Amino acid sequence: MIARIIVDISASDVDRVFDYRAIDGVERGSRVFVPFGRQNVEGYVIELTDSTDVPPEKLKDVVSVLDDRPVISDEFLRLCDFMTERFRLRKIDVFRLLLPAKMRGGRIKALEKNIVYINPEYADVDPALFIKKTAHSQLEIFEYVREAETAEQSFLNAEYSAAAVRNLINRGVFLVRRENVLRTPYKNIVQKDCAVTLTDEQSAAVDTIMSSDKPTLLFGVTGSGKTEVYLHCIEKVLAEGKTAIMLVPEISLTPQVMRVFRSRFGDDVALLHSGLGDGERFDEWRRLLTGEARVAVGARSAIFAPLGNVGLIVIDEEHDTSYISESNPRFITREVAFFRADYNGAKVVMGSATPSIESYYNAEQGNYTLCGLPNRVNKRKLPDIDIVNMCSETTYGNSGMFSAALVNALDECLKSGNQAILFLNRRGYSSYVMCKKCGYVAKCDDCDVSLVYHKDENILKCHYCQRRYAMLDLCPNCKSPHIKQGFIGTERVVEQVNKMFPSARVIRMDNDTTRTKDAHLKLLGDFSEGNADILVGTQMVAKGHDFANVTLVGIIDADMSLHFSDFRAVERTFQLITQVAGRAGRENKPGRVILQTYTPGHYVYRYATAYDYVGFYGKEINLLHATGFPPFTEILRLLVSCDNEDMALEATRFATEKIREISAKNPDDFVYLGAMRSPKKRIQSKYRMQVLMRIRPNRDAVRRSVYSVANELSEMFPQVTCFTEINPNDLS
Ligand code: ADP
Ligand code: ZN
Ligand code: ZN
Repeated sequence: MIARIIVDISASDVDRVFDYRAIDGVERGSRVFVPFGRQNVEGYVIELTDSTDVPPEKLKDVVSVLDDRPVISDEFLRLCDFMTERFRLRKIDVFRLLLPAKMRGGRIKALEKNIVYINPEYADVDPALFIKKTAHSQLEIFEYVREAETAEQSFLNAEYSAAAVRNLINRGVFLVRRENVLRTPYKNIVQKDCAVTLTDEQSAAVDTIMSSDKPTLLFGVTGSGKTEVYLHCIEKVLAEGKTAIMLVPEISLTPQVMRVFRSRFGDDVALLHSGLGDGERFDEWRRLLTGEARVAVGARSAIFAPLGNVGLIVIDEEHDTSYISESNPRFITREVAFFRADYNGAKVVMGSATPSIESYYNAEQGNYTLCGLPNRVNKRKLPDIDIVNMCSETTYGNSGMFSAALVNALDECLKSGNQAILFLNRRGYSSYVMCKKCGYVAKCDDCDVSLVYHKDENILKCHYCQRRYAMLDLCPNCKSPHIKQGFIGTERVVEQVNKMFPSARVIRMDNDTTRTKDAHLKLLGDFSEGNADILVGTQMVAKGHDFANVTLVGIIDADMSLHFSDFRAVERTFQLITQVAGRAGRENKPGRVILQTYTPGHYVYRYATAYDYVGFYGKEINLLHATGFPPFTEILRLLVSCDNEDMALEATRFATEKIREISAKNPDDFVYLGAMRSPKKRIQSKYRMQVLMRIRPNRDAVRRSVYSVANELSEMFPQVTCFTEINPNDLS
């Protein structure tokens, strides 16, 4: 028997399959050791066959099988094929996604401990008969174990005397057994009973989800009780003997989520996410693999939970950008979910108060079932959002970042002992250019996205078509010289707040203050316990948190994400405003939101303040149609990087020419094709260039041809790294 094997080495951009002679125990999906060059390396068996082109004298044997069962199921082998073909990934990179990182290379194992107990023959005998009176330690240990029935040997060693323990074991007084000890995250979260009767709306949603043969888009306002709907659906599939996967955005994966799930499903839940220790992660993964746990909860990567017989996949906050991975291996979580649902015959539910335009469009087109929860469970109304026009502040001589209205509101909020959140919706690194007098923003004539200021060349550029424009001296609209470019940072906001309200306690939350593991949980914990009055932060303060005392939310510069050079900038802004507004007035105190902007007339603010998602969607989808962006096209980016600039250039030229040929043959399929330096021209001393395409959706053949070009490029230019991306979150 011949085993076709993907070996775990990172040699080239493209996978190669090697043939080996199988030994006993080798199955499809096994993880094995095989000789490779001068050493043995790990590999995965993707196929067993009878024949090979390798001559018998060259054919080597598999050295050993690494686990007691194949770790890659038939489902995952097929998923791997799908992901390889759809996202142009190497199989080995997909396998690495499927297994806990430290399991490869044998760096982690199940944790076993020696458990000591009394030999039944000695249980009812007076210890004086077999332990000397002078052996005090032995007597103490014996009494302890008799009382406790069992004890960990390492505990006894540490607590009493290792020699005494060993003596009792050697004489057969104590027996020892090996036991797996599970490292379970958030183990101490107590279980509490919380049976909830669903509202009629919620029951109807559960029925729709469980009876739909398409994925369901659960469109429910913040506080409409979506979580409870998920929980009931999960209960149903568990009752049918199936399993479930619940995905949440990385940032909202707090102990709160775990608490809810543990209280409902106990040890049936396993948690998978990057913040766990390696041991914890491995054990949680194994509990899913062995069927001990049947519900997987986690961020993006939990979609690869090793569960069979999946009955339900939940994608909560489906619009969240964390569902698209931005570094290699790049994949779209939703598509992986659909694949697994198809394979298992599972239901899919995607929930959001602000669905992505793409998903809502799919629902409209009949590809998803649309299900609404238009009311909050507690009937509390959503907070009012007041718009402050910062241009008039400029006119009246206030050129700072705080409007008079926001300062007054903060003052009032602090005086009444409540808490406030100040939010900066900053994204990425690039900066747009805006007139502070009239709110004019420089945009590309062709693409209708904001231009990006490039300081080094002192020009404006469109990141979608690379057209260049001169930097503005005067506003073309009102001739004012007050041109603003660049960002306000969170530090500067904190500085200002400290000046205006010296006695207020402020917590800052951004990428810099949350670098360490658990840092953001700690900051949020401090804030919710009332150890601070004001929380200043970026996107990460917007989602999912429940603070009872927050009555004011200030959005410092709402335009920041609005004028980001991204075709989804307006959509993201709508989502952010809705999410962050949802943080105010959740309990009994009414909330208020102050939104500062230089472009108060922008349609996004009209719809956001009215909480009118459907109206917003209608406007936005028309624009996307007119400009030819997703969902009406698929953006495809081929990214080339190399520390040799000429080589990168040459490779990019090669790819461009080949893709031009493809486009010439299929002119209707390409809406846009261009080659350029990437906005981030150099990262870690590697020059970056890209070929950017917008192609008609579902043209698999065209995409495949582009991928072949990428593969060819990798063969021809081995020093060059080449990635491809579908609808990336940002194009930097
Ligand atoms: P969403 O995720 O839609 O924003 P949540 O799931 O957080 O809303 O629910 C909001 C609050 O309402 C939670 O505190 C939840 O426990 C409560 N809740 C949900 N469903 C019910 C129900 N049927 N009866 C009473 N309270 C409920
Ligand atoms: Zn102007
Ligand atoms: Zn353009």
